[in-house]
Amino acid sequence: MLTVFSIIFGAIVGSFLNVCIVRMPKEESIVTPGSHCPRCNHPILFYDNIPFISYLALRGKCRYCKSSISAQYPLVEGITAISSLLLFLKFGPSLNYFFYFSFVAALIVVTVIDLYHQIIPDVISIPGIGVGLLGALIVPSITFFNSLLGILLGGGSLFVVATLYQWLFKREGMGGGDVKLLAMIGAFLGWKSVILTILLSSLIGSITGMIIMVIKGKDFKYAIPFGPFLSLGAVLSLFYGQDLIKWYLGIRA
Ligand SMILES: [Zn+2]
Repeated sequence: MLTVFSIIFGAIVGSFLNVCIVRMPKEESIVTPGSHCPRCNHPILFYDNIPFISYLALRGKCRYCKSSISAQYPLVEGITAISSLLLFLKFGPSLNYFFYFSFVAALIVVTVIDLYHQIIPDVISIPGIGVGLLGALIVPSITFFNSLLGILLGGGSLFVVATLYQWLFKREGMGGGDVKLLAMIGAFLGWKSVILTILLSSLIGSITGMIIMVIKGKDFKYAIPFGPFLSLGAVLSLFYGQDLIKWYLGIRA
């Protein structure tokens, strides 16, 4: 019963994340006005705003002007619902579940905004650092000290890399947004997982970069956003960190 509820809860949160994704880059309020069609501005009534179901019922079109609704809406709702379910299965009904679900929800918003606009909004990463650090005082899975070390290591290491890169290549490779995002990741996951997140996201990012280069046949002058890779690395560390570290140490031994 609670498992089903975790899916529904995730979908409802996902619906709110869509609002954040659309409005935060424009610095609009995420509370008012209520949902409305971006094309015809008609208010969206509650029965047309049910996650997933309304999209299917309306066949992806606005009820009033029939313009297509972006696939972003059901995608984000679905991904958030699945994340909620997986976290619930991992942590059960606990503070840990809410702590990590808020973390993953923030990463979902960051990822989609970074893909669209190549920015990571400070309104997510900076409060996120605070929530992670204060949350570490009450959740059992991470200590306050570990969270603090995670912030320093996450923010610090990427800051050094970004500065070195800029000094060597005379152009910006990584933005300040990535630095603050990794500090937030450190606040929620602690220092060991920050290292793992950097390794995983660099690995997945380089492979993806090479694939894009092969497909598009370009040299890699344009920057791909790094936020989605950091987010993916962080989620993999959250779910498989312990196993990956054990496996790695096993290979070395
Ligand atoms: Zn419309």
